[in-house]
Amino acid sequence: MNTLNKDKEYIIGTYNRFPIEIEKGNGSVVFDTSGKEYIDMTSGIGVTSFGIADSEWKKAVEEQAGKLQHMSNLFYTKPCADLAEMLCNKTGMKKVFFSNSGAEANECAIKAARKYAAEKHGNGCFTIVTLRNSFHGRTLTTLAATGQEHYHELFKPLTEGFCHIDAGDINSLKELIKSGKIAAVMLECIQGEGGVIPLDKSFVQDVRQLTEDNGILLIVDEVQTGNGRTGELYSYMNYGIKPDIVTTAKGLAGGLPIGAVLFGEKTENVFAYGDHGSTFGGNPVSCAAGISVISRINKELLDEVKSKGQFIFKEFENAEGVEDVSGMGLMVGIKTVKPVKEVLAKCMENGVLCLSAKDRLRLLPALNIPFDILKKATDIIKDACK
Ligand SMILES: *Cc1c(COP(=O)(O)O)cnc(C)c1O
Repeated sequence: MNTLNKDKEYIIGTYNRFPIEIEKGNGSVVFDTSGKEYIDMTSGIGVTSFGIADSEWKKAVEEQAGKLQHMSNLFYTKPCADLAEMLCNKTGMKKVFFSNSGAEANECAIKAARKYAAEKHGNGCFTIVTLRNSFHGRTLTTLAATGQEHYHELFKPLTEGFCHIDAGDINSLKELIKSGKIAAVMLECIQGEGGVIPLDKSFVQDVRQLTEDNGILLIVDEVQTGNGRTGELYSYMNYGIKPDIVTTAKGLAGGLPIGAVLFGEKTENVFAYGDHGSTFGGNPVSCAAGISVISRINKELLDEVKSKGQFIFKEFENAEGVEDVSGMGLMVGIKTVKPVKEVLAKCMENGVLCLSAKDRLRLLPALNIPFDILKKATDIIKDACK
């Protein structure tokens, strides 16, 4: 049986996969099993930050895998402590919890917000406000946080204690806060799965001010937007705010499973022994990969991300068959005149892998995609939009 048929036979049918079997890659280029070459504008949904099998990343992973691939959290390991220190030094946050995925990072942030609010405001104060059109994960609690009804329908009852407002609707937030029951606000500065939609700067700043004034936590979900993707280390840095809790995952370890929750001054001591944990969280190989990724996200790289993002914007802003372009840095959404499925298929046929988000084409190339490859990809994508 070939892989496509075997997968269909034995893997649960939750993924609507493209009929391509990817075998290997190098940087921003991947190959299928027939030897066909594709430019990868997906990075595995923003995960392989420095492309496939990048030599520096590979060295860090291989060295750590050959030394210690796992140890329980009952003992100390250096990569875990080093990555946490690095994240705190680069953000001004105070402490870190490592998980294995974005959803788990958000679960941890939600638990922390509940405990913080219960201690500060009393037991009835547990509601977390999130935005409509947001995405925060697939567990029952992060689904409840996700402000898109169609994800909820088949899985009720979800975890209670969430409510949703429209992005930009600061008045609804003011009203909700009057109830005295709001523990936190959680948002993505750029709604990724929602279609690569950046929030307005003034709205985000108003939310920060309002939450600050009322002793309510602000959690920023940087699972997709984090780790250099938007041209800053974390997307909130484009907004001139400082969250109380930051969650991240996807690109942090460049292709190995990891999640991280960063806690600021108010929340750094919220958890005590036994309040939370994870078997694999802080895995030394994932953390070694994370150190390799984060140590390379310097000003020079971020400037490169910004200028490549600007290049993509310019290429598509007035292109034939394109209605508009959204996003920041190397996180770009393109509203095409043609149905996005058609555009994706045409790109694939012509050797470029892209993503979609809602009705938009979504581009999340590696942060270090060489300029000539990027140019070649945008030419092929533009042609597919016509
Ligand atoms: C992908 C994503 C998640 C979920 O991450 P997983 O690692 O798939 O659990 C959560 N929030 C945002 C913003 C995401 O893009």
